[in-house]
Amino acid sequence: MASVELRDIRKSYGTLEVIHGVSLMIEDGEFIALVGPSGCGKSTLLRMIAGLEEITDGEVMIGGQVVNPLTPRERNIAMVFQSYALYPHMTVAENMGFNLKLSGVAKPEIEKRVGEAARMLALTDLLERKPSQLSGGQRQRVAMGRAIVRDPAVFLFDEPLSNLDAKLRVQMRSEIKSLHQKVGTTSIYVTHDQIEAMTLADRIVVLNQGHIEQVGTPLELYRQPANLFVAGFIGSPA
Ligand code: ADP
Ligand code: MG
Repeated sequence: MASVELRDIRKSYGTLEVIHGVSLMIEDGEFIALVGPSGCGKSTLLRMIAGLEEITDGEVMIGGQVVNPLTPRERNIAMVFQSYALYPHMTVAENMGFNLKLSGVAKPEIEKRVGEAARMLALTDLLERKPSQLSGGQRQRVAMGRAIVRDPAVFLFDEPLSNLDAKLRVQMRSEIKSLHQKVGTTSIYVTHDQIEAMTLADRIVVLNQGHIEQVGTPLELYRQPANLFVAGFIGSPA
């Protein structure tokens, strides 16, 4: 686990600046929802934290350390996307353990961690199956398992449930919540679903056109939206 701090982060593509000086302090163990309309810069911000996108200006700190020069692997972050590319020729267990194997973790340790993650995610009975033999929700759980086994300092989610149907989304939402209650890993969760943000997050960050409109608990944003944009987005009566 670790705190995450963004210090005046900027991102330009060519001459076009799309993130305009974002600063944010996230406490160790906090669950943050990052919300905002399509194209406002949520994925770009997440990818800069992960080290998948160059930071034009500003600093990202994880656990009090500036990580700008570090590779994604060195940042000890796990990212869960909406398109969860599982390896089709590997079993669930092999998919979950693959990153650990690449990092040179010994086989008994891999089996132990995969077993623990499988129990947490109700995948124990599915460990020998291939991805093609799983439902969409089960595949998404394997993708999360693959992230959990690495015991990352921070979880980054980029709209992980947007490809699932409504019923499954509700179920996975509560699984993500109970997972966070169990492991307590600092999490940043991108979604454009207000209900998801309201039910999951300790605090919500509302992003609009590359800048932060407001940061607060779900209740604070609902009761005291800073402006009409936040009110409209959170669906509060103001
Ligand atoms: P969101 O995830 O909130 O939908 P993105 O972070 O994907 O938004 O995009 C933010 C802005 O940056 C958008 O205007 C998008 O068109 C632009 N953008 C994203 N990636 C690139 C890229 N590789 N090159 C140029 N512009 C990009
Ligand atoms: Mg996006």
